[in-house]
Amino acid sequence: MTKKFYITTPIYYVNAYPHIGHSYTTLACDIVSRYKRSRGEEVHFLTGTDEHGINIEKAAEKAGMSPKAWCDQVVDAYKELWKILDIKYDDFIRTTDKRHEETVQQIFEILIAKGDIYLGHYSGMYCNSCEAYMDETEAPEGICPIHKKPLTEVKEETYFFKLSKYQDALLKFYESNPSFLNPKFRSAEITNFVKSGLKDLSVTRTKVAWGIPVKSNPKHTIYVWFDALINYASAAGLGLNICEDKEFFKEELKKVGLNSFEDVWPADVHLIGKEIARFHMVIWPAMLMALGIPTPKKVFAHGWWTVEGEKMSKTLGNIVDPKKVADEYGLDPLRFFLFREVPFGADGDFSMDSFIKRYNADLANDLGNLLSRTLNMAVKYGDLPAEGEYKSPLLVKAANVDKAVEEHMSELALDKTLEAVWSLIGDMNRYIDETKPWALAKTDEAAAKNVIIDLIHALRKVAVWVEPFMPATGAEMKKRLAPGPVQKYAPLFPRLEVKK
Ligand SMILES: [Zn+2]
Repeated sequence: MTKKFYITTPIYYVNAYPHIGHSYTTLACDIVSRYKRSRGEEVHFLTGTDEHGINIEKAAEKAGMSPKAWCDQVVDAYKELWKILDIKYDDFIRTTDKRHEETVQQIFEILIAKGDIYLGHYSGMYCNSCEAYMDETEAPEGICPIHKKPLTEVKEETYFFKLSKYQDALLKFYESNPSFLNPKFRSAEITNFVKSGLKDLSVTRTKVAWGIPVKSNPKHTIYVWFDALINYASAAGLGLNICEDKEFFKEELKKVGLNSFEDVWPADVHLIGKEIARFHMVIWPAMLMALGIPTPKKVFAHGWWTVEGEKMSKTLGNIVDPKKVADEYGLDPLRFFLFREVPFGADGDFSMDSFIKRYNADLANDLGNLLSRTLNMAVKYGDLPAEGEYKSPLLVKAANVDKAVEEHMSELALDKTLEAVWSLIGDMNRYIDETKPWALAKTDEAAAKNVIIDLIHALRKVAVWVEPFMPATGAEMKKRLAPGPVQKYAPLFPRLEVKK
């Protein structure tokens, strides 16, 4: 088997139900996967859930459930949402899966044997919500910058991962792999963080019962972050290479269409939110270096969404439920909006006003009208033409967009991809306005017909480009534009009335 393109979402922490932020990352992976598949590439798309740690214990207790029962229920909500959002993943890893837990335990023993994990004592300031120790630079005045809550002082016996040992190796790695840290504007931040000095990382807890026990010292459970990062490798079948029970791991891999770890590893893209950039860009590659396993090719950290200009929060009650938006306006417009509105990587604001504006301008007017106008004019010229190569000025432009799409998608510039496609859609609408095929037909029927044929061919390309973003729309466009008899259809995107 040749290596598949391996793309991952973070595994989502099941202390709460999914919202637009989780959907954003997962949709981005779905779009990239669909794009790759549409070009005949083999893709392995992993998502999943992060299920251990003190916050899960607490959430379960509050709900009067066992941690596992709590996790099961939130996992169902995730899977249900991914179905609604038409996300086609190949594997869903849970950190409570046996394949994951055994791999994590084995990695831990390997690193103890190598001396990269050692037993010591730790005392420091700790954020219970992040489940992370923070120093003065990370949490000025002892307040967690993410949770805005004071840190508590914690002292415990703990195992440490020798992160400090990998400081120079990481810096060399970033330098010789300039495509690892993404987007580019984040790379200086990470590099400076590493340069400022890495400390060894406490990677076990004695106070947290809901975690993976250290095999050789089970009063310790493994720090939830250390456990979670390993999911990318445990799902890919690292267990087959390092654990005893080969048959078990072989069977697990078979279930997701793989034969070996090397079928997918190294991962091509870990797509994440910017709040977990350090874990993925610093700790994870260091862990892999310690294990002697190749590092992933790319980590891409996208920005955060605010809602109507405010940070999304339970207290403000402004959490956007993607299911509600999809139910009311359709799934494709939502998938489109999230990647058209904001440069992928930067922060963005979700407002219903801008959603409706985008919908009406880009979908109802630009794309929907273009398709209707073209097909309505095509009716009088009989069957739609067969697929073929044409060299009109419009199709030369389309070929350039093809190249631009390829370039932007390879850089995960999802917004630029849509921008390039919509710029051609604009050209096509202007082409109709300028050539006026309905008037032209009165004097030069053949020329008018050529304009329509031109548009049909270019629209078929548009259908291919938009399909990863808007699967139902792409498929419907392909159907309407198929060679053969042509008909009139209802608008693809009926205009939305702006509620006053
Ligand atoms: Zn925190």
